[in-house]
Amino acid sequence: MPTSIRQAITRIINMGIQLSPDAIKLLSSRNDLDEIMAKLIMELDKLREKPMILTSKIILELTREAKTEETDVRNISPQIKVIFDPSETISLEDIAKDFVSYFVSRYRKLRRILIAERLDTRGAVNVEYVKKSYLTGRMNEKIKVIVMINSKRKTENSIIFEAEDLTGDIKILVSNKNPDLYGRAIRILRNEVVCVEGRMISKNIIFADDIIQPEVPRMKLPQKTESPILAVLISDLHIGSKHFMRSAFNKFILWINGLIGNDELKRMAARVKYLIIAGDLVEGIGVYPGQEEELLVRDLKRQYKIATEYLAQIPRHVRIIIIPGNHDASRQALPTPKMYMEYAEPLYKLENVMVLGDPAYVNIHGTLFLITHGKSLDDILANTPGVRYDKPEKVMIELLKRRHLAPIYGGRTQISPEREDFLVMEKVPQIFHAGHLHTFGYEYYNGVLVVNTGTWQEQTEYMKSMGIHPNPAKAALVDLNNRRVHAILNFKMQEKMPEEF
Ligand code: FE
Ligand code: ZN
Repeated sequence: MPTSIRQAITRIINMGIQLSPDAIKLLSSRNDLDEIMAKLIMELDKLREKPMILTSKIILELTREAKTEETDVRNISPQIKVIFDPSETISLEDIAKDFVSYFVSRYRKLRRILIAERLDTRGAVNVEYVKKSYLTGRMNEKIKVIVMINSKRKTENSIIFEAEDLTGDIKILVSNKNPDLYGRAIRILRNEVVCVEGRMISKNIIFADDIIQPEVPRMKLPQKTESPILAVLISDLHIGSKHFMRSAFNKFILWINGLIGNDELKRMAARVKYLIIAGDLVEGIGVYPGQEEELLVRDLKRQYKIATEYLAQIPRHVRIIIIPGNHDASRQALPTPKMYMEYAEPLYKLENVMVLGDPAYVNIHGTLFLITHGKSLDDILANTPGVRYDKPEKVMIELLKRRHLAPIYGGRTQISPEREDFLVMEKVPQIFHAGHLHTFGYEYYNGVLVVNTGTWQEQTEYMKSMGIHPNPAKAALVDLNNRRVHAILNFKMQEKMPEEF
């Protein structure tokens, strides 16, 4: 064994760390031993909890960063794979849409998720079956049914749901003597699909012991090192509004071009490969009564032209993905196809821009994104006790638990009854990105990064009247290798960016 290797091994052992045989093999095989050792010792020093045994895998992880710092993201080819885009799937003709087949599709898809992913739904039977077994005298048996909730009614000491499956309807009674279940039942929304466990107490009523929502399975975050590639997540620019924060957005553009900020911020900017805009690129026209007063640009086409001029200033190697919001030029109902060419034409001409509909499932550099504007978050806020608009990520989590992007039918959120319910989250995203509420927040929920990226619009008169205080001009930077939020940058503040890590 050459002395250099022996010395290297001794240095590591002196740090109280053992070396695995494959680690020794790896070090012996390197002709850049001095370099790799310097890096390795430095990285090991930094670790609060040092490994007991150093394997070749750990060495590679620890020393990879040295390589990645040199990697220029401009030379990395973009990897974008659209998994689902409603623009391609939905029918825009006003053919007679069929509510019944829409709801059957919703029920079937969510039932499939409940059965496949929740062990506690095992043994679920249908409504017809439980009614029959009650009539044949097996009333004390525990039963489980998977049903869609049609209505919810509170009485003095209980909640009564009317629900159905494909074989019949039934009532579900939740007593307040079971405070845990009662607390969960009160949050159950109309049209959601759940599994109910309980006993029949009359020929048409189940007394519930438990209610199970589809939920998302617990996933672990990848224990990977940082990658050179960052995605920037923003939403709700509202270009064309008097309240669009022009100077903050200009600052954003200067930053992403590497023209402002300290060294650290410039290094971050150089790593940006993707920019995702989750709707409301422009302010639109005629979105709410009295909007004309708040418009700086009253022509929708011109709003898109100006928006495109802003986006054209973003470096071309940054791939931009945009979906429509309720202010954009597309149909209101979900699923929403991409912006109409007639209005947003300049946008389609930018070669680094990809326009998709809402919801969009996109695999970006190995990470599965679900991008939606979040139109249904209003309905969730209005109907779920305990959620608040200033914690927008919590409102989004309510959607994840139900595995549906717009659980309530017939509320403020318009839903187009397609032949298939494309709003069921059949796939669990790794990053769930929305906007719409104009407040900022993120959280990891069972391993899913849930992020609502706020807005670039100051408080409007309308928002003032609704008591909404926006939390504007922020961008979330996400490392696409380990899905960690790398930084939250605040472009409203004069100095001291980034605001937090
Ligand atoms: Fe908005
Ligand atoms: Zn919106």
